[in-house]
Amino acid sequence: MARSSPVPPRSDVSALSKYHSAQVDVPVRLNTNESPFPPPDEWRQEVARLVTSIDWNRYPDREAIALRSAIAARHGVDASSVFVANGSNEVLQTLLLSYAGAGRSVAVFEPTYQLHAHLARISGANVVAGRRSVDHTLSADEIQRVVTQYSPHVTFLCSPNNPTGRVESWDNITLLSDIAPGLVVIDEAYAEFSERSAVELASSPGGNVVVSRTFSKTWSLAGLRLGYLIAPPDVVDMLHTVVLPYHLDAFKQAAGIAALKYVDEMNDRVMRIVAERGRIMSALEGLEIESWPSGANFVLFRPTRVDGHTVWQRLVDRGVLVRDCSSWSGVEHCLRVTIGDEAENTMFIKALKQALEQSE
Ligand code: PMP
Repeated sequence: MARSSPVPPRSDVSALSKYHSAQVDVPVRLNTNESPFPPPDEWRQEVARLVTSIDWNRYPDREAIALRSAIAARHGVDASSVFVANGSNEVLQTLLLSYAGAGRSVAVFEPTYQLHAHLARISGANVVAGRRSVDHTLSADEIQRVVTQYSPHVTFLCSPNNPTGRVESWDNITLLSDIAPGLVVIDEAYAEFSERSAVELASSPGGNVVVSRTFSKTWSLAGLRLGYLIAPPDVVDMLHTVVLPYHLDAFKQAAGIAALKYVDEMNDRVMRIVAERGRIMSALEGLEIESWPSGANFVLFRPTRVDGHTVWQRLVDRGVLVRDCSSWSGVEHCLRVTIGDEAENTMFIKALKQALEQSE
C-alpha cells in the first residue's frame, strides 16, 4: 500500500492545479508558441565548438557578466540593469520570491498568461485580478480600480498579451507606472513580433517598471531555457540575493552570447512569422470565426457556429494541435493557434475549414 508523506504539503500549494499544455502526438503542433524555425546552422556549429572549450570542472561565472553585458548592449542599457535566468519563467519566479510572498498582493488583468498568478501564489502572495473588456483591451478605469482597491506590491501587464495577442497601449503602461505603489512587470515574451516595447522605462534607478524577455520565441531557442529581465540596478541586485548560486550553467551562458550575434537571422525569422500571421488572419476572415488583432506569434480565434472545444477535437483528428482555451474565463470557446511555417499554416487553414464544415 502506498504510504502518504509524513508531512502534508503547504495547503495553499496543494490547492493549485498543474500548469500544462496538452501534449498530443500529431504532425502539426501549433499549441505552445515556439518558433517553427530552427536556430541558424552557424550558431549550432559555434555551440558545438564552445562545448569543447568550457571549463567543465569549474563553476560558471556566478553573475553571468559576459552574457548580461551582451544583452545590455543590445538594449542600450548597463549590464547592472540585466538579470538572466533559466527562461523568463524563472526570471518571474525569482522576482516574485523577492517582491511578493506571504502578506503581499500581486495584480493581474485577466485573461492573461496564467503562470503570473500561479507563480505569485506559490510565493505565498494573494492574487487580485482585474478584468479586460470583451474585446480584450484594458480600460484606464479598471487599472485605476485595481490599484486603488488593492495597492498591489507587484502588478503584471503582458504585452503582447498571451493568450489574446493584444499589444498594451502606451497610455496604460505609463498610467500604471505613474499610479502603482509597487513594481510594474511588463512581460514582453513576444515583443519582437510587435513594434512597441517598454524597455526604455525599465532601467532608470529608482524606477518601478521592469521588463522580462525570452530567447524561447523570437530567438528559436525554447530548448535552451534562457530569459532575462531589464530592471533598475537595485532590483537586479535583489534578485541576485534570492536566486540560487550558479543558477545559470556555463554552457547556457556561452550559447546565449553566441545567439546574440545572429540578430539579422532572428529579425528575418520574425518577419517571416509576421507575414504568415497576416496570411492566417486573412484566411480566418472568410470563415465563421471571430478573431482579434495580434502582435505576437499566435492568433486567438472563436468559432461562431460550432463549439470551440469541438473544433479543437476535430483539428486534432486531422493532425493539427492548437491550444484549447475554450474553458478559460474571458476567452470562452476560443482557440489559440501558434504561427507555424508556411506548410503547417496551410495545413491548419485547410483542417480548420473542414472542421467548421463537418456535420455532427
Ligand atoms: N511569458 C509569456 C507571456 C509566455 O507566453 C511564456 C511562454 N509560454 C513565457 C513568459 C515563458 O517563457 P520562457 O520559455 O522564457 O520561460
